[in-house]
Amino acid sequence: MRVLVLGGTAEARELAARLVDAEIDVTTSLAGRVHRPRLPRGSVRVGGFGGVEGLRRYLRDGSVTAVVDATHPFAEQMTAHAATACADERVPLLRLERPGWTTAPGAQRWHWVADLDAAAQAVTGSGARPFLTVGRQALDRFTGPLAGREALVRVVDAPAVPLPSTWTLRLSRGPYHYDEEVALMRDHRVGVLVTKDSGGGYTWPKMQAAATLGVPVVVVARQSPPSDVMTVSVPSAAFAWVAARR
Ligand code: NAP
Repeated sequence: MRVLVLGGTAEARELAARLVDAEIDVTTSLAGRVHRPRLPRGSVRVGGFGGVEGLRRYLRDGSVTAVVDATHPFAEQMTAHAATACADERVPLLRLERPGWTTAPGAQRWHWVADLDAAAQAVTGSGARPFLTVGRQALDRFTGPLAGREALVRVVDAPAVPLPSTWTLRLSRGPYHYDEEVALMRDHRVGVLVTKDSGGGYTWPKMQAAATLGVPVVVVARQSPPSDVMTVSVPSAAFAWVAARR
């Protein structure tokens, strides 16, 4: 069997490692957005497929027998393309998606918003100094509303868009630790944290730090995934799904 894992997440790397250990032929696909990505075990291909048609062609040419879409919860276009292409090519598809965050630490309440523009609007209205942790591709939604305002931005690679000179840019990659997150937010006098509902433990310390410091949190909610695709939340379940198809 030939498995294609749509990756870019820790869960995708864990799944690939399990499949390699079980001697299952696996190729992980990465979008190529990050300059020096953490590479999974097994084969890797990098770059977009060229839309639904390109992915269909890839599935056919590569005789792919199963696909696990383990992309980030906010990689919505890739998830939609995988659902369409796999249905068209009759290739079994599983979605591996870590659960979203549900409850704020302590007594804190999060401010949920539907999308990035609503997040930008929320922080613009608040007047507090934002800490933007929404990924570099989302920053253009904030540059206009927050032009001339102070903001702290943390991304893995330098953003493609020019940032206002009043913003402070930090290039770094997790994992992040609670004590460091508290110190960072304190040092930069962060007044509001902006995040996507990425879920998982990897970036959770910033949520704990915000609760400790009493910093309000704006959380961008996820969109609903394609409803007809079976979804699991942990790599072990995705591995079992693949192994059952051997
Ligand atoms: P997206 O908006 O859903 O996808 C845009 C296009 O990028 C897709 O149509 C596809 O191009 C290409 N693409 C996305 N994921 C791909 C993959 N794994 N392999 C090959 N092509 C891929 O995706 P995104 O939000 O930019 O995310 C890109 C990658 O970063 C994903 O692998 C995702 O897991 C990872 N990531 C995303 C976030 C986030 O917040 N969005 C956070 C952490 C990691 P074609 O149409 O040409 O095929």
